Amino acid sequence: MPELPEVEHTARQLRDAIIGAKIREVLVFWENTIGHPDLPDFLAEIADRDILSVRRRGKFLILDLSGELILTIHRRMTGNLLLLPPGWEIDTSLKTSDPFTWNIKGPLIHRYSTGNAETTTDETSSDLLYCRVCFNLADGRRLLYTDPRKFGRIELWPREREQEALKSLGTEPLSEDFTPEILAKSLSGRKSPIKQVLLNQEVIAGLGNIYADEALYYASIHPLRRANSLTPAEVQLLHEGIVSVLTLGIEHGGTSFSEYRDLWGEAGDNYNHVRVYHQEGKPCLRCSTPIERIVVAQRSTHFCPKCQKLTLV
Ligand SMILES: [Zn+2]
Repeated sequence: MPELPEVEHTARQLRDAIIGAKIREVLVFWENTIGHPDLPDFLAEIADRDILSVRRRGKFLILDLSGELILTIHRRMTGNLLLLPPGWEIDTSLKTSDPFTWNIKGPLIHRYSTGNAETTTDETSSDLLYCRVCFNLADGRRLLYTDPRKFGRIELWPREREQEALKSLGTEPLSEDFTPEILAKSLSGRKSPIKQVLLNQEVIAGLGNIYADEALYYASIHPLRRANSLTPAEVQLLHEGIVSVLTLGIEHGGTSFSEYRDLWGEAGDNYNHVRVYHQEGKPCLRCSTPIERIVVAQRSTHFCPKCQKLTLV
């Protein structure tokens, strides 16, 4: 699932690639991906808008468009963006010939045939499957939104309603607003396990399963500790850990376990740098104790039982 570093990485790539481009039209292959407004309004409103800037807030990607509009993209589990150069065509014939397959895979996407039989392009790449929405740019490029599991949402809002569009997101962890004092305040009064609180987007915006586990390991805090039981020293370390693992995640281009790809279809490199996430059974890098996996708030949680002791405070 893309978390803050993956979304930030995509935002930076998009910024270099599509600012100044014009969205000619949008093709929607899975209607539920469009969360706001209704599909006919979405299609009418977004046509011929210029892309003015690209931002990130929490796990949301935000495109500022001409006409005082914002486009929000929330990839949830498996959403990805892929930018194709001019020369690709979209084949929607499955929609009528095989609706069952269409609903799973979406359109077939391949390069224009050049007339000679020689087509050496990798048209079977799984990165081109599961396209739910396609933004056709005026310069001939296409920005694909792919999403095998279909949980992601794309919405169009007037800029003045941005708060409403982003729901109630908490502090941005890489902003100056995020201080140990703010973190301490956010945790006080919360009796839930610290892991669960870190995943709550209304507390800190952008942390998900990978970076929450990594930050807790950094701070040597057991994921089941009650959030309000952390000492000031632990809060300080946790703050440092959150900033550190997110910053490193961005530097490494994000973490890929299965679906995540960047704008050019490349997997991120941060997988080689995680300490505990998906490392169960492997030795802790600090003490060699095997990393354990438990379930917290229905999410896989990884920790070192020796470095992250469950002290009952
Ligand atoms: Zn350890």
